[in-house]
This record gives sequence, C-alpha cells and structure tokens, in this order.
Amino acid sequence: MSYQPNSTEARDIAYQLHSYTNARKLEAEGSLVIERGEGIYVFDNNGKRYIEGMAGLWSVAVGFGEKRLIEAATRQMAKLPYYHTFTQKTHGPSVDLAEKLIAMAPVPMSKAYFTSSGSEANDTVVKLVRYRSNALGQPEKKKIISRFKGYHGVTLASASLTGLPNNHRSFDLPMPGILHTTCPHHRAGAVPGESELEFSKRCAKDLEDLILSEGPETIAAFIGEPVMGAGGVIVPPTGYWQAIQAVLKKYDILLIADEVICGFGRTGEMFGSTKYGIEPDIMTLSKQLSSSYLPISAVLINDRVYQPIAEESANIGTFGHGYTASGHPVAAAVALENLAIIEERDLVGNAHRLSPRFLARLRALEAHPLAVEARGVGLIGALEVYHAAFADEPGVLGAMINRAMHERGLIGRNMGDAMAFCPPLVITQAQIDEMFDIAEASLDAVHQVID
Ligand code: PLP
Repeated sequence: MSYQPNSTEARDIAYQLHSYTNARKLEAEGSLVIERGEGIYVFDNNGKRYIEGMAGLWSVAVGFGEKRLIEAATRQMAKLPYYHTFTQKTHGPSVDLAEKLIAMAPVPMSKAYFTSSGSEANDTVVKLVRYRSNALGQPEKKKIISRFKGYHGVTLASASLTGLPNNHRSFDLPMPGILHTTCPHHRAGAVPGESELEFSKRCAKDLEDLILSEGPETIAAFIGEPVMGAGGVIVPPTGYWQAIQAVLKKYDILLIADEVICGFGRTGEMFGSTKYGIEPDIMTLSKQLSSSYLPISAVLINDRVYQPIAEESANIGTFGHGYTASGHPVAAAVALENLAIIEERDLVGNAHRLSPRFLARLRALEAHPLAVEARGVGLIGALEVYHAAFADEPGVLGAMINRAMHERGLIGRNMGDAMAFCPPLVITQAQIDEMFDIAEASLDAVHQVID
C-alpha cells in the first residue's frame, strides 16, 4: 500500500519498530492510525468509529476521554509533576495510592511497591523473591514456577515467566530458574471423560510432581493469572485454585497472583483472587489501575515477604532496586482518581450485572460452524475458532475474522484462533449487543468466503 509521503502512516513505516507486529507485513501494509476515543469507542484518522472490544490492551476500564482523569493529571502536573521515592523521599500521591491499595487488597497485605508496567512489576517480583530467600538463609530456594500459556510480560525475567513460544523464540529464553507447569485449559488438556474437577486435581498433581523432581527446597514461588489473558482467555476449571494452593502450602511456596488483567473488576469481582478464593502472598497490578491513561503498576507484598526484605536491606545498607518513575506522582494521582470512578460508578457491579448478557451472547456464538469453544467470566471472554481448511495454519482463521470485525467497526484481538473480547467496564447492555452483532456478522462473512 502506498501512502502520502508525509502521512502518519508513511512516517510510521519509516521510523517506528512496533510491538507484537510482523515488521515486514507492516512495511507492506501500514498500520491503523487511531486518533481519538470516547467511551467504548475509538476513531481512526478517517473518522471511522470502532468499538474497542479489547479496552485497548485489556485496560481502559473507565472508557476513553474521561475528563476526571484528565483533570486529575492536570492538577498534579501543576503542583508536582515529578518526584521520586528513593533515599527516604516520598510524596502524597504515592502514599495515598499505597494506602488505598493495601486497604482494597483481598487478603492482608503489608506494603505496595510501584513500577510502571506489568512487566516491571513481575520482574521486580522475581528479584524480591530472590532477595527474600537470601535474607532467610535459603540461597537454594530461588526457582519460580509459572504455567504454559501464562502471560507475565516481556522483560528478561517476566518474559521467562510467560509461557508462550513467541516470547522465548530467538530471545534465548526462558532464563534458568524459571519452570513451567500444565496449562489449566480443560477442553484442550483433559482426557476424554475427565471432569473439570478431576482435571484440576491432575494439574495440581503435575505441579507437585515438578516440585518433587526439582526438589521442594529449591522452589520459592508459583505465579499465575487468576484467569489467563493473553494465552487465550483460559478460565480456571472447577476446583483449580483450591487444588493448586494446597500443594503450594504443603511445600511452603509463595503464591504470586498476577492481577494485571483481572484486577479492578474484570471478572465481576474487584480482584480475580476474590472470585476464585486465591490467597496470594504477592499481587501484581496494572492496566485497570489507571485505565492505562498513564503507565503505572504495583506489587503488593504481605508481611511474610516484607519482613525478611526489610531486614536484608538493613544488613546491606539499602534495598538496591528502584525505577526513576516508581510511584510517579501524576500516574499515582490518575490511578487514585480512576479507582474513585470505579467505586463511585460501581463499575465492578456493572461488570457483574452485565456478565450474564456478555456470556450469553458469547456462548451463543459457540453454535456457529466456525466456533469450537466459548469461554469467559465477568466481562472477559474468548471464542475459539477452527476450520479444516486451516488445520495446518493456526491463527489464519482468527486473523481473517479479526479483519472482518475490523471492517465492520469492531477492534478485537485474535490470539492465534482465540478471538478475545474484553470491553471497557463502562459498556452498556445495548453496546454488548452491538459488539456481538458485529462479531456474528463477521463470522458469517468469513464462513461464506471459506465454504
Ligand atoms: N501480566 C499480565 C497478566 C498481562 O496481561 C500483561 C500484559 O498484557 C503483563 C503482565 C505485562 O504488562 P505490560 O505490558 O504492562 O508490561
């Protein structure tokens, strides 16, 4: 495709390397230029309107163009645009946000540590876990177990935790000390006749076998998303988290809940941990924390984690970790206002109330000839698609449907052949119908072309 020489599209091709993009394909085809947003909609540079069916990257809870967040950022910019939290300095917004998150946490937590992305939060967790084990005089207890298809970010450590091949290939990852166990996807992983509960028990047994083969004294922590997101929206089978937690308790292994997607209402509860009865020692939060208006993330740690770390920092003389933007005052102020909006407008309740409609519309698509499975919880879901014509080319059908949705004004995301839906929490029932009407028409259109 050729663009005007000075157009945004042409300069984008000329100057920018994009995330999660085939660079050669982008050179040939260019990108979609999004110019503005309003509620659940975004608009491209030709004025075409799209439903943002993924809330950006699972993150814009309050919708686009929220004036209160703009005002909160402006106020804080004018007062103190930047300060840090190194060397015994602090500022109001970071303290207020830490206090708020500790109060909101689903289990007793001791401290919040701020970072700027989900990847940085999980990377920090890997370091905290190591630091703690050294502080406890258990230098061999360092390995962390994650799951195949889990997604925890893209830094060297967090990409290692991620259990997806494209995050490892050609990056020489995962790094040593990170292990992966069974993905809890019942339809894909269960043997014929195996119930969800039986499958959950088998996942826990696989975890226990891995711990025993590695040596329990070498395993420090287990990390998981309450509901897997980027791995294809995989909802845990019945009894999964109970069975997993029993194994972790037995071997004194820390539990890290990656709530980067689930946190702040996505599952219809404030946290995914609340929804599934998870009692984490460490939680990572981001995305809906600020609705991604500004980059901010947080690590919450309980006292079991904090105390040895505090002690080690005293022994060494400092906790030798910190980012220039840790607890950035403008990002923290925006996060606080965003959380106030989520509470005042009862967006968690909205997700809870609209979930039956969202899931009913999603599950209705399961009957479509191109669909094999619909799965979801709260306002997050995926439709897995398949056609024999693409049996050897995973992801091609998903990409075709994604393009068809795009043409009809719906931005979705296909993770391979899993079509994900994760709209802003401010969505209405009529808008849910509008979104799934487009998805259905797109499936029909692609089906007609193939068959
Ligand atoms: N953890 C989860 C569950 C995620 O979904 C993501 C991003 O999608 C991350 C961590 C990484 O966050 P970021 O992209 O902000 O580094």
